[in-house]
Amino acid sequence: MPAVPAWPPKSLPRLFVRVPLAQGNLVDLDPGQANYLGNVLRLGTGAGALLFDGASGEWLARISEAGRRRMTLVVEERTREVERVPDLTLAFAPVKRAQVDWLVEKATELGVSRLQPVVTQRTIVERVKLERLQSIAIEAAEQCRRTLLPALVEPVSLPAFLGGIDAPLYFADETGGEPPRSAFQPGPGAILTGPEGGFTDEERAAIRAHPSARAVSLGPRILRAETAALAAVAAYMALAGDWR
Ligand code: SAM
Repeated sequence: MPAVPAWPPKSLPRLFVRVPLAQGNLVDLDPGQANYLGNVLRLGTGAGALLFDGASGEWLARISEAGRRRMTLVVEERTREVERVPDLTLAFAPVKRAQVDWLVEKATELGVSRLQPVVTQRTIVERVKLERLQSIAIEAAEQCRRTLLPALVEPVSLPAFLGGIDAPLYFADETGGEPPRSAFQPGPGAILTGPEGGFTDEERAAIRAHPSARAVSLGPRILRAETAALAAVAAYMALAGDWR
C-alpha cells in the first residue's frame, strides 16, 4: 500500500503575510511575493502555498487570481498552530553589517524569541537597519518553518539594557564563567555577548553586579562576537530550550 503523502507537502512555498489569516480570507500578495510564486515558481490559479502571519499559525491557501505582478490567494485551512519558541532574548553588541545579517538569520533559525542590539563602549556600529534585519528574519522564518517571527527591537545602551532586564541574564564572558551545562536553565532568559573589542572592565563589573547575571564560559578559545552569540544560543537550545 503506497504511503499516503503527507498533506500539505512540505515542498509548498511558505510566505509571511502582514494580514490576519482566517478561513475564507482573501490575501493579496505584495509584488515581490507575486513575482516569486508566479514567475519564479511558475505557479498559477489553483496552486497551493503556506501562509503565516506571525500570530495565528500556518494556513494552506490557494491562488485564486494571478496577474503579471499581482496575485490573490484564498485561505483554506489552518495547517499548524503557532509554535511556542523558548522565551530567549539574544542581546548582542552590533558588529559589522554582514556579521549582524548572518547573526539575525541564524538566531531566527535557532529559535530565539527576541533580538536586542546593545550598544557598549567598544561597539563600532551604533545603528542597525531594523527594516533590513526584519526582512532577513522573515526569510529565515519562511525557510525554517517558524510561524512566529523573532521580535527585533531598537538598540539600547548597555546601562539601559541592564536596567530593564530581570530574567536570568547569561553573560558570555571570555574571562571566565560557569559551563553552559550548569548555567542555562529552562524558562525566560537573555544571552548577552560583547563587541569585537569585548566589554571594558567597568562594563564587565556592572554586568556581573546585576542581580540576575550569570557569567557563562563558551570554552577556552576566544570566539568572534557573532560566533559566540550563536554558540551560546545553540547551547541554550540544547540544554534548556526546545531541542531537548
Ligand atoms: N576580549 C576578546 C578578545 O580578547 O579578543 C574580544 C571579545 S570577543 C571577540 C566578543 C565577545 O564574544 C565577548 O565579549 C564575549 O561576549 C564573547 N566570547 C568570545 N569568546 C568567548 C568565550 N570563550 N566564552 C564566553 N564568551 C566569549
